Amino acid sequence: MMLANPLRTARGDAPANDALVIDYAAGALGPAAALLAATHCAMSAQARARLSACEAVGGALLDGGPRAVIADGALASVLARLDAPAPAAPAAPAPERRSAMTDLPAPLARAVGCGLSELRWRMVMPGMREHALDVGADEGVEAKLIKLAAGRSIPRHTHDGLELTLVLTGVYEDESGRYPPGAVAVADGDIEHQPRAGENETCVCFSVAAGGYRIRRPLVEFVRCLFG
Ligand code: ZN
Repeated sequence: MMLANPLRTARGDAPANDALVIDYAAGALGPAAALLAATHCAMSAQARARLSACEAVGGALLDGGPRAVIADGALASVLARLDAPAPAAPAAPAPERRSAMTDLPAPLARAVGCGLSELRWRMVMPGMREHALDVGADEGVEAKLIKLAAGRSIPRHTHDGLELTLVLTGVYEDESGRYPPGAVAVADGDIEHQPRAGENETCVCFSVAAGGYRIRRPLVEFVRCLFG
């Protein structure tokens, strides 16, 4: 399974979104996480700039230039670029690519095959619906779209593995912060969190999670979410 926890290994001090793009550029993600990363890059100019920086280093290595030059300069260069503020004009700018036929970013639209309004949603609880995605052979990895009504929260929980949540519409909030469209929230077994939608708009997210969810007090949490 390619979602073991590639985001917090050798780059423990790198922001999670940076680590996701680096792993995507390196081909280190399974199909579900790679689709999430591609969608993240389609939505975020900053992510595209960082992907370009990673690909430039990879291209230099593949070109077979002098080893000493690459070893001394390439890694330092990409790390410096990743640490720097996002450039005003990214190296490889591209408009936010939304399919002409759907309201989803193009990589996700291709995988889903229809628009948000045409999806069949399964109600999990009042205010929360899900649509499971079949995006490849990622054993033990669950990929789905989640629609959370404005102001609604889901039960407080933790994870057996890594969870990536890419915000598609609205605002996603949890104990780690507030995430606008295009941002990726990362959770794992080290934290317990209670995701919720912003007050003013339905939040739709693309979630990729390895392993299961654990809710310590399921009855209490579900009742609180129903009436909270
Ligand atoms: Zn979670």
